[in-house]
Amino acid sequence: MSSLPAGVQRWTTKHVMGMCGVGKFKVRWGSADSAGCPCCGEFEDHLHVPRCMAPLTSAEWDRRTATLDQWLDAQVTDPAIKHAILHLFQGVCDLLLPCSRLVPVRLRRAFLSQQHIGYQGLLEGRLSVQLAALQEQYLQSRWSQRSPTLWVSRLSHQLILLGFYMWEHRNLVQHSEDNGQLRERSRLVNDGIHSQFDMGPTDLPKVVQRMLAVKHGTVLNKPLVDREEWLKLVRMERKAYRRALAPQRRILHRFFHPAQAPSPVSRNQRPEITPPRRG
Ligand SMILES: [Zn+2]
Repeated sequence: MSSLPAGVQRWTTKHVMGMCGVGKFKVRWGSADSAGCPCCGEFEDHLHVPRCMAPLTSAEWDRRTATLDQWLDAQVTDPAIKHAILHLFQGVCDLLLPCSRLVPVRLRRAFLSQQHIGYQGLLEGRLSVQLAALQEQYLQSRWSQRSPTLWVSRLSHQLILLGFYMWEHRNLVQHSEDNGQLRERSRLVNDGIHSQFDMGPTDLPKVVQRMLAVKHGTVLNKPLVDREEWLKLVRMERKAYRRALAPQRRILHRFFHPAQAPSPVSRNQRPEITPPRRG
């Protein structure tokens, strides 16, 4: 594993332990409200990432396994071993799919041995030594000078990288606006921006009024993070400005309405209207 990039090594350690930035741990660490997968919304732990059934993730999985298929050919892999490995890969998403009867008899012990290691183990690059022995026999039958040990080592890396690329795909979806959680965040922030434009610039300091002196679309077309910052700032300034004006408004109210109650009420503190007593 030491020949893998440092980032992939760190990722592998975290994922083998199961402690990584998936929804399950983000909730525990207080950095997310939901443990939902950014691709499908289902509960997300480290096992879910390559097993996610969202259409985009399934397409990525198919693309990655097709690349592995080509890689195995390029490495002069015994075709029967290649088909056995790809068949085992089906077990990652559906435990019941791989069946030893679908592989040649000479491969069955190795197939069962790999099944014993587990499909998650396969994704972590853990390979049965029996597969290596079979590949060695194949290379010898072709008078190949290739090293079966190197084949095992490289295949192990390819398997780890496949899992890593699925993680990268998951992160890409999380940070794109195509996922459900972000769509909801985007909708809420857009509603907030519309409300600020509807309220107008009156309750804002002059410097912030300029932020509303543009077309709605100018703000709504900004990236989500920028829109959230825009909304946060305008809301904060409006609140502060209203709070600062409140004492002046109270003084003015006393001046114009000396016989009434000492202070006016804000729009949010309207008094209850008591109906006049009869009789
Ligand atoms: Zn998912």
